[in-house]
Amino acid sequence: MLHFPVFLDLQGRVALVLGTGEVAERKADLLRQAGATIRFAERFAPELLEGCAIAIGADAEPAELHALAAACRARGIPVNVVDRPALCTALMPSIIDRAPVTVAVSTGGAAPVLARQLRQRIEAVLPAGLGRVAAMAERCKAAVRQRLPDLAARRRFLDAALSGPAADLAMAGREAEADAALAAALAGADAAPPGVVHLVGAGPGAGDLLTLRALRLLGEADVIVHDRLGTEEVLELARRDAERILVGKSGADHCLRQEEINALLVRLAREGKRVVRLKGGDPLIFGRGGEEAEALAAAGIACEIVPGVTAALACAAGAGIPLTHREAARAVTFVTGHRREGGVDVAGLARPDQTLAIYMGIAMLPAIRDGLVADGLDPATPAAVIERGGTGRQRVLRGTLQEVTEQAPGWVEGGPALLLVGAAVGRGPAGGSAAGAPLAA
Ligand code: SAH
Repeated sequence: MLHFPVFLDLQGRVALVLGTGEVAERKADLLRQAGATIRFAERFAPELLEGCAIAIGADAEPAELHALAAACRARGIPVNVVDRPALCTALMPSIIDRAPVTVAVSTGGAAPVLARQLRQRIEAVLPAGLGRVAAMAERCKAAVRQRLPDLAARRRFLDAALSGPAADLAMAGREAEADAALAAALAGADAAPPGVVHLVGAGPGAGDLLTLRALRLLGEADVIVHDRLGTEEVLELARRDAERILVGKSGADHCLRQEEINALLVRLAREGKRVVRLKGGDPLIFGRGGEEAEALAAAGIACEIVPGVTAALACAAGAGIPLTHREAARAVTFVTGHRREGGVDVAGLARPDQTLAIYMGIAMLPAIRDGLVADGLDPATPAAVIERGGTGRQRVLRGTLQEVTEQAPGWVEGGPALLLVGAAVGRGPAGGSAAGAPLAA
């Protein structure tokens, strides 16, 4: 984070604006809207800062602006000098005002135009009456706290109430009816509803490959039980104060045994929590989501499964490799490179008209190749290893099955990696290279 956002309470406080002109007026206006009294000055003098909560430098002589910035810095008064980031200790964000709801957007000074564009988009999706919904929440705060002393129960209630009929009424300016609707909902609120577990696919690790449903659930969760590091970008999107429990890393290095994870999920749900069990890719593809869903069903706990973009799809898209192709593959097989009991079993998979997406197979590449070749697959069949597919750090190694088997061990960097094999792997925008020299990108 480049700058730490805070919201200043300027009610009844003094803001110094140094300089004159249109920009100075505009800044002064904003500060006035926040309740500040403006002290205008054309020349800087240290005593102008007496009692100031913030200072703005606009159109003034450079020497004056430098003096202002230095004096503010020395006294710990936030200062913003228009168009001079080096002199600033505070940036003025683009503001969306739905008082008491305020949204501020900053690009850290890198691209004010971008901040403005973002502001416009946010303006468009935030209803004008949003402030009234916040005001309603404020009015009923004490009653809700009294009726629902448990934090998780309170949050569940407000989650529903602030997007339900009471909120609609408030938004429409019908305050009395809104308060009545909220009171009625509160009277009927269940203080301890049974918890629920959502098995949520996190996709390959890029935040914007998450589904909207997963995003919503991450925003509502009381607890997030997650597997591996590598989903940090996704966890960034979760509720800040949700409890996070790391239960396992990728591969064989498990922090908790599967039965322990199952028991943990059951316990958290029985405490009435909203649990998100976050899994890389899709929860039902080599993610043991099925086992966890079974355990929850056996314990009588509600479970919802939210799909995610599985590694094969993220890797294929990221590398521009078609998984099916009318001239090269009419089937795709998702297969794991290692069996539960150890060793490799690829018997029956060597078919010319299908693409193999082999998960967890990189450590076993030679055995996989040997098995496929023994089964009749040509070692010159196009193949690719994709590491951290679908993320900003994706890497792709292309070649024939023989070539990638030889090169991958020295090429991988230790991130999750997938093997794709089949005639279709040589097609697509970057195809063709598979037949010639291997191409690492
Ligand atoms: N449920 C996950 C798979 C878990 S098994 C999913 O649907 O994607 C873990 C294996 O998935 C890893 O060994 C690797 O083969 C593959 N994998 C997961 N994320 C990946 C990524 N971003 N890029 C390449 N392979 C990945």
